[in-house]
This record gives sequence, structure tokens and C-alpha cells, in this order.
Amino acid sequence: MIPAVMPTYARADIAFVRGEGARLYDETGRSYLDFAAGVAVNALGHCHPRMVAALQKQGETLWHVSNLYRIPGQERLAARLVENSFADTVFFCNSGAEAVEGVIKLARRYHHMAGLPERNRVIVATGAFHGRTLATIAAGDSEKARLGFDPVTDGFDRVPYGDMNALRAAIGPSTAAILVEPVQGEGGARAAQLRYLRELRTAADEFGILLLFDEVQIGFGRSGKLFGHEWADVAPDALAAAKGIAGGFPMGAILATEKAAAGMTAGSHGSTFGGGPLATAVAEAVLDELLSPGFLDRVDAVARKLWFALVDLVARHPTVFVEARGAGLLLGLKCVGDPGAFVAAARDRGLLTVPAGDNVVRLLPPLIITDADVDEAIALLDETATARAAAETAA
Ligand code: PLP
Repeated sequence: MIPAVMPTYARADIAFVRGEGARLYDETGRSYLDFAAGVAVNALGHCHPRMVAALQKQGETLWHVSNLYRIPGQERLAARLVENSFADTVFFCNSGAEAVEGVIKLARRYHHMAGLPERNRVIVATGAFHGRTLATIAAGDSEKARLGFDPVTDGFDRVPYGDMNALRAAIGPSTAAILVEPVQGEGGARAAQLRYLRELRTAADEFGILLLFDEVQIGFGRSGKLFGHEWADVAPDALAAAKGIAGGFPMGAILATEKAAAGMTAGSHGSTFGGGPLATAVAEAVLDELLSPGFLDRVDAVARKLWFALVDLVARHPTVFVEARGAGLLLGLKCVGDPGAFVAAARDRGLLTVPAGDNVVRLLPPLIITDADVDEAIALLDETATARAAAETAA
């Protein structure tokens, strides 16, 4: 019999009932160190006091009004994002897939308004993940995500991630935009070279097409800067964000330049819940924290510590790991074997991680982790790897 909850997820048999900082507690009271963070969502960890206060205050004031009216909290949040990013304007929605669909729509509409409606295709990358809607499964590179959902939405041309020659060769008269993740998350914690990101910008400018970054996973502080592309010193024309933006309250956003958003006029796009008072109040609390003096530098420092510890761990367990990879606090351990088995074994020892493509175990801790949390995670990963290596030798 089908369960009451539609069985679209392969879930671990564990239920968390409470969270505090980088810790989760299950029904038995057992504590786990959370290096999964709701798959890169709980940017400030669990129940951060600033977020709790913002949610409680807004919850007693006003929950929802439609976008038929001005929403002062939304205006304030948008203005602060504009002030602190490449963007001139922001559209709020509710999820990563909705934000990615939005940047695709923005790109098509941009060329439509410029009198070039034939420019409606988007170049996407191998290893990409952009969400689970019909357009985003077409943009993403997972056959499994598309299986049984034909017809595949048209409008995407795929090239190898990081290969500039292939990308340039794919640009044609119907190309509207390039869409890439500066650091691929689901694809296996794979960071693009900064030079590649700069060359994408050059190519987009040369051909008059838009550069779209999907920063749903790496954005909002996870790279050690507010947005991952800032490391390359290039700006996209538009960007999709979600996950950490409101630290666990559902929200997504499109950030765009004035030029790129030229077609996004009244009536062109919308979202009932997008940018409502509750979500924007929580997002502003998250932003306050991310932009507080020293916060992002601290993320960068703790990410570097974790990175070097992972490189060392890989060197000590060559039969278990192939390499460490990723950027900021979106890091991965490529495993010799099945990452799912490693994730389960680490969880049994009290450490939560996330499997990703290409045999990678992903580490996505909240941005507030301490040096002591890193030491504890490394010790647990070390124990898990030692046990797995011993089991393999015995087998
Ligand atoms: N884009 C990227 C890079 C993602 O990592 C994800 C989710 O993992 C998405 C888009 C889709 O986000 P959502 O699940 O909120 O729709």
C-alpha cells in the first residue's frame, strides 16, 4: 500500500525533533553534528536567535499579503541585496527551481523585447542540477530525473562543464543565454575554475547573450563571499538564489541587472507567495548576520581549515577516498566506492553528510560552524573511513 506521504524520497529511518546551532537531535535524544544543513539551507544553523526573533515578531504582525500591494519588508530586502551585489533588481519566489525557471524566462523575454525572439535557447553544462520542474529537469544533466517525464522541455543545449571551446562552438543564432553553477553541488561538489567563469562573461558579451549563474547552493555566503562568482571578479546578468537565502524559511530569488530585466514588466511574471512578509523578515535577519563585520571572513577561514583537513584525510585513506573537492563550505570527498554507504556509516557515528553525483560525499555544514566542529567532523570521518577500509580488507 502506498504510504500517506508519496514515496518520492529514499529516506533514512531517523526523525529529528529539535535543532540548535550545528546540532540536530532525534526522537531518542541522540545528537548529530549536522554537516548537511538541510542540503545547504540552514545557513545559520538551527533556530538561530536572530531568525527566531524575526519570525516571531513578524508572525504576530502580518503573515501574508499579495503582490497586488506594496510589501515594505520585500522592498527593504531587495534594496539591501541590490546594495550588496551586482544586481539592480530582485524578484522573490519560493524555491531554487522557481528561481532558475525565472532566470530562463528572463533571458528569453530579454531577447523577445529586443526584437530577437528566435534567441530562445540556453546553453547548459554536463553535471548540472537546476531543480525538478519540467524546464529545470531539461536544463539539468540527470537522465534519472527526466525518466518518464517526456516530452523533454525544449530549449537547452548541453556542453561539457569547464570546456570553453565546446561552449563557444555551441553558441548560435538561437542562443539566448549560458546557464551554469559556479560550483556544482548535486553534480559532485565541483568548482569551476575562476578563469572559466571570466571566459564565460567574455563570450556572453561577445555574442550579445546573457550569462546566468545558478547560485542556489553556493550563494548566500557558502563560498565565503555573499555570492560565489565574486571570487572570479565577474558578474552575471542574472542569478538564481534560494536555499540559504532565508536559512530554512522557503524562499528563492532572481537577482538581475537593469538591462537583463528589461522584459520583466508588470504582468510578465509572478508568484503568489513570493516575497511575502514572513519570508522576507527571516531573510533580512539572515542577511543581517551574513553582512555583519567579519562573518564571511570567518566562513572563509573555517572553510579553509576544513579543506586542508579533508586533503589530509584523503591522503591517509587512499583505499576509501579519491580526492577532496569543491569550494568554500560546499566540499566533497570523492569515494572509491558507493558514497551512500559512507554517508550511512558516518550517520551511524553521529555525523550527517549528503551524497552527490560522481561518487561524492558532500559536506555542507551551516556557515556558523566552529573550529571545534571541524575537528569533530574530521575525527568522525576518519573513524568511518578507517572502519570501511578495515571492512574491505577483511572482505
Ligand atoms: N539549483 C541548484 C544548484 C540546486 O542545488 C538546487 C537544489 O538542490 C536547485 C537548483 C533546486 O532547488 P529547489 O529544490 O529549491 O527547487
